[in-house]
Amino acid sequence: MVEIARAFVKARWPRVRPIRIDDRPIETAREFEANFAARNALSVTLAEAREEAARELAGGAPRYPGYSFGFSSGTLGEPGVFLTSERERDRWVGAVLGKFLPSRMLTGASIALILKHNNRLYTDVRKTRRLRLHYFNAAAPVDDWAAALRDAAPDILIGPPSVLEQLALRQRIRPSLLIAGAEPLFPQDAALLHDAFGVAPRVIYQAKEGFLAAGCARGRVHLNEDLIHFERIDIGRGRFVPVITDFTRTSQIYRRFRLDDVLIGAESSCACGSPLAGVAAIEGRANDVLLIGDRIITPYDVNDALGRATDYTVTQTEPDRVIVAGGVSVDAITELLHPAAVTAAPYEPPRLGEKRRRVRRLFDPHNDWLSRFTVARNVAPGV
Ligand SMILES: [Zn+2]
Repeated sequence: MVEIARAFVKARWPRVRPIRIDDRPIETAREFEANFAARNALSVTLAEAREEAARELAGGAPRYPGYSFGFSSGTLGEPGVFLTSERERDRWVGAVLGKFLPSRMLTGASIALILKHNNRLYTDVRKTRRLRLHYFNAAAPVDDWAAALRDAAPDILIGPPSVLEQLALRQRIRPSLLIAGAEPLFPQDAALLHDAFGVAPRVIYQAKEGFLAAGCARGRVHLNEDLIHFERIDIGRGRFVPVITDFTRTSQIYRRFRLDDVLIGAESSCACGSPLAGVAAIEGRANDVLLIGDRIITPYDVNDALGRATDYTVTQTEPDRVIVAGGVSVDAITELLHPAAVTAAPYEPPRLGEKRRRVRRLFDPHNDWLSRFTVARNVAPGV
């Protein structure tokens, strides 16, 4: 197919030299932020974008009509910021509803959305009148809003796994669709949520860079290849870090942008019939991978060694030092992390509104370790 297209272009426009996407260098988040003004349609700087996002959050009048600025929970201290056009927000609503909502619910459904940062991206769902959207603030104590959420009797419940777990302890809620996002869904979290809500959670994978993948009813997570071009940086043992090129966004330009997340590939096709590439899980941020010498220890390696406990943290503070906290045994993980020194510390649960990250690494914040891997071209041979 691509060969035919290339032959057509060559015959029609003989002097046009096709640009290959992989002629462009890969852009990291740090480079994207450094080039922020050149990567958005309004030429706003990162500082201006943050100012606009703060103004919008406070209910101020937008300086750029039609555009919305939002914060995303960042991994490295300062929150990330993104902008969207009205058209993009409409498309986002359509894509999310299209991928998750059974057609019977398009005629009317109540949706409860638990979010840390609100954004017009989400409130725009209200425009689709048949869907009643209820928004709950993940940064406020669950007790403040758990009863109101129960009263809303949502057909669809969307939130971070750690907050959904707390909600399940307080209220009995039976949504027909449960969607987990914003933080990793470990196997024990999926099992717990399934038990608590009577329905298996489906993953929504999105970041300030866009809506990236959606979990299907068979438990797979399908990349949104219909909206975004994906390439993979293979890091071994079936894991990869995605590199995205988004042909649909115009407010912000993502071309060969390295998303610092670790995904676990899935070998076979999915029983749901989706032609989109499936992944078994979004394991976590690339910053959640521990680096011991030249070994890579992933969050699931740590999680399995610790018997899939619920409340714990494992933090690599330095190349040879790891701190373990929670009701887990240091001995259980010493061999896995050898020769790093492993010590115990008191457990601190995530603060209100903070993402649950059980496993994380504090050095190499920009993931320069990924530069030792190369991109596998995610295209057919001969293209
Ligand atoms: Zn599927």
